[in-house]
Amino acid sequence: MSDYGRIMLAVDLTEESKAVADRARKLAHAFDAELHVVHVIEPLSLAYGGDIPMDLSTVQDQIHEQAKSHLAEFAAALGISAERQHLIFGRPESEIHRTAETVGADVIVVGSHGRHGLALLLGSTANGVLHGATCDVLAVRVGIPEKTED
Ligand code: AMP
Repeated sequence: MSDYGRIMLAVDLTEESKAVADRARKLAHAFDAELHVVHVIEPLSLAYGGDIPMDLSTVQDQIHEQAKSHLAEFAAALGISAERQHLIFGRPESEIHRTAETVGADVIVVGSHGRHGLALLLGSTANGVLHGATCDVLAVRVGIPEKTED
């Protein structure tokens, strides 16, 4: 197995992204790898199935602007430069794959909620990313309370 030279971190920009990012950052450090980050904005028409009879482009623009600054802030905290920040429109699973392939990533790092067992995991983005990936996928377990000593 060769080393990881390029790592693609996928974030939904929720609070949990920090734990996933921390793991990706450590992995990048261990392999002296290039760290990229991707956030996918789901088009409103996809999220609502085109049910709303109005022009959503202004709202979509605002969402894009907000996501852009949020991603920039998130990436800056990880020391990821602008050209390694990828903000994409579309379906998360397929766009994460596409972006990873475009930059030639060796591994994709995603968060995964293992708490409620396989049933939840099967419907997750992590599972979607795992299937059809042309490189390794690291699913970082998130949302599980730390065990405390008592
Ligand atoms: P979910 O299955 O939606 O809870 O998401 C699990 C993981 O998939 C997140 O921790 C991210 O790594 C990734 N993910 C989900 N949604 C997105 C998104 N819109 N853009 C990039 N990554 C995402």
